Amino acid sequence: MSEKDTVLAAKYSCADCARHCCHSESREHLPANCPMKNQEIHQNTIDEYCSPAYHDFYFTSMQVEKEGYYHWPRLRETVEFAKHMGYHKLGLAFCIGLSAEAKVCADYLRSKGFIVSSVICKSSGIDKQQLGLTLQQTVKESGFEGICDPIGQARLLAEDNTEFNIVLGLCVGHDSLFFQHSQAPVTVLAAKDKILCHNPIAALSPAAARYLKNRL
Ligand code: SF4
Repeated sequence: MSEKDTVLAAKYSCADCARHCCHSESREHLPANCPMKNQEIHQNTIDEYCSPAYHDFYFTSMQVEKEGYYHWPRLRETVEFAKHMGYHKLGLAFCIGLSAEAKVCADYLRSKGFIVSSVICKSSGIDKQQLGLTLQQTVKESGFEGICDPIGQARLLAEDNTEFNIVLGLCVGHDSLFFQHSQAPVTVLAAKDKILCHNPIAALSPAAARYLKNRL
């Protein structure tokens, strides 16, 4: 499939649009596949934001966005959001590779008055070979190697009745399972990227793309 065909195969392609009429009052010259044309979805979505299930959560996120825009780092934004929502107990689901950062994060959150329940990715203590992986399929290729257990992390935090869960550096796919199984709403403090110091968006800059050309 050519690159043009792959663009045409998708119903929407905002990433290829430079008009951004959606960010102004202008409704002239909408691209042919502009999502704004799908009014049925948008009307239903407005109703959802205004429903009792989502009203406070959504409007609080807009309030924090307004207060901290270009002012607070994401960690502070997370704290302010949790405070505005009246949460007392936060969950911290973290990767063993970010244990030092998890300790600093838990201390910081506690200093802001929260109870913090933290669960590491290896919390099950289960060997990868128990799930049927051969040694060659493990990262170390020798001896015990614990699985990452995002479903377990989500269940442990649910058992401890956390009200809002923070993800710190879970791997791609593990994070998806955590999102699916978390009982409490989830926010991401950091996305894991061992090559780019947990700043995956750096790979999108032209300079990094040149540097990483054999890895992208
Ligand atoms: S919503 Fe429409 S105007 Fe906005 S970026 Fe997408 S295609 Fe462009």
